[in-house]
Amino acid sequence: MIDFWYDDPREKEISTLNESDSDMTEQATKPAFKKIKTSALNKKVMADHFYGLNEAVKTGSPKIAWCTSVGPAELLRGMGFLVYFPENHGSMLGATRAAAECIPVANAAGYSPDICSYLTSDIGAYLKGETPLSRAYPGIDAVPRPDVLVYNTNQCRDVKDWFNWYSRKLNVPSIGIESFCNVGDIRDSQIKSVSDQLKALIPTLEEVSGNKFDIDRFKEAVRLSRLCSDRWKEVLELNSHRPAPMTFFDATTLMGPAVVARGTAEAVEFYDELIAELKQRIADGSGAIEGEQHRIYWDGMPIWGKLRDLSNLFLGLRTNTVASTYCNSWIFTPLDHTDPFDSMARAYTELFIVRSDRIKEEYIREMISLYSAQGIIFHDAKTCPNNSNSRYGMPQRLSERLGIPSVTIAGDLNDLRLYSEEQSITQIEAFVEQLAGK
Ligand code: SF4
Repeated sequence: MIDFWYDDPREKEISTLNESDSDMTEQATKPAFKKIKTSALNKKVMADHFYGLNEAVKTGSPKIAWCTSVGPAELLRGMGFLVYFPENHGSMLGATRAAAECIPVANAAGYSPDICSYLTSDIGAYLKGETPLSRAYPGIDAVPRPDVLVYNTNQCRDVKDWFNWYSRKLNVPSIGIESFCNVGDIRDSQIKSVSDQLKALIPTLEEVSGNKFDIDRFKEAVRLSRLCSDRWKEVLELNSHRPAPMTFFDATTLMGPAVVARGTAEAVEFYDELIAELKQRIADGSGAIEGEQHRIYWDGMPIWGKLRDLSNLFLGLRTNTVASTYCNSWIFTPLDHTDPFDSMARAYTELFIVRSDRIKEEYIREMISLYSAQGIIFHDAKTCPNNSNSRYGMPQRLSERLGIPSVTIAGDLNDLRLYSEEQSITQIEAFVEQLAGK
């Protein structure tokens, strides 16, 4: 079981159903779930984020920018916008399993079942006039209406198509950065290109916000974002301890502030508190999984609608998914407030998802070593080829190079019709047995 950053009555019903379905003997022998106390503050940071946006919609101030999850949030904050992240909404639709009813609505509007299921979940939810925000946060009836949509294609082209849909629907500008992909060693010309594109956003942002660009305000947002990134990195790296103080499934919810509140002091304060709690767990020798026996690295997207089930499965197997490329994606170490444009350009071009296989493989090798992982699970998410690394021989190359096993499970971030649950459970159980045999 994991602790989400929002309380959704339906999500609780799903959880209860799953637990009552479970085998009682297994429940009796399974180690107890250890709740992270700082989750309460996580819920507050996230609630403040959404209620702040809701208030801005009512009063018309400040203006609201929608931003892709690894888009130029610091520039938007520096221009005085409140920032909303549709991918975060997509993950809520997945985790609450509302996505199942929303995806077909977007499919009927011409958005293929084969493209990003965050996109189809989110657009489908909009067309249905629904949002899990209204169940989680009383008084919020809808997602906050944007004044401007700002993307970066560093992660995929889907985000641009997604924002362009809203641009046409709501008649608001959609602007952004066209990034490089399959990036090997980063070249100065690439940084200059992204940096120039960042600067080119400013006139439109000034016009929409009514604020003149203020370099000091921008630098402060970059400074706070870097502090948040450093804290989040520290949180994740605490999991290199044995036993690890949290799991990948905890991290997928604890990363909320790093996604939606980076560039704010609240996010930094939250991670300071979380770090203190995790350090205490380490000092007490108290791992997230009692009697931790195996350590696994997770590559690829989470399966949002199955986080609880998978968390429970690994708990029962006394196996911790200690690290992931996904949660590490919100570490932006190059950010430097003394050189805000170029450092932002570098931070958002150095991302794992943008890089060539050579760089990705080297990165995973370092992670396996840092976290003492014994094996890798590749999640092949059907509708996110951009964040699925198992399709061109990487698992085989890494297994040969690192001498550790890997397994690939077929699934999806939001579309559970694409997740082979029974097969995946069998694969994971066999994989852990294989680790035990070693
Ligand atoms: S990276 Fe994948 S999950 Fe994220 S927006 Fe792009 S296609 Fe969707």
